Amino acid sequence: MKKFLIFCMAVGGALVLGDPVSAHDAHEHGVAHLNLVVDEQEVEIELETPLANVLSFEHAPQTDAQKKEVRDMAALMRKADALFVFPAQARCELAEVSLDSDAVDREMLASGSEGAQEHEHDEDANEARGHGDLDVEVSFLCRDPGKLNSVTVDVFKVFPDMRRMDVQMFTPKGQKAAKLTPESNVIQW
Ligand SMILES: [Zn+2]
Repeated sequence: MKKFLIFCMAVGGALVLGDPVSAHDAHEHGVAHLNLVVDEQEVEIELETPLANVLSFEHAPQTDAQKKEVRDMAALMRKADALFVFPAQARCELAEVSLDSDAVDREMLASGSEGAQEHEHDEDANEARGHGDLDVEVSFLCRDPGKLNSVTVDVFKVFPDMRRMDVQMFTPKGQKAAKLTPESNVIQW
């Protein structure tokens, strides 16, 4: 009976939201979701966060000050090796960072985008909702993956409005969930 109920809730939730991928994405200020995948030399990190955790607003930037705030935030995210710190012996190097948001144009999130063009496309839906998210994808390559067994998440230091991260990790040791806070910011496996 219990299993059947859970099945119905899962199916019902997916039908109502029309998008099973985002069915779990509760938008709660202060909280972010982090997926960590360690596959031999490669580390993939996906961080999904409300914009409120990294900006003082959640809509498309309108004033010059807001545009500067977005560019400064994007620049900090691109320095992802200061946000996610691996053991030095694992010799990990940042490979790629990509930023995406339902509220802020991709051009604004790209590096060195002084003359970013404005687009109208997704602003209406977003403003009706009043909330926006940021999706950060980071990959690292580690030359000595045998020494790779932890990552220190310093996102909390750089973005103090981030108060908690719900972590799902897939590592050579298996799948595990964890919660991180500014006081407890190390993922180990
Ligand atoms: Zn919000």
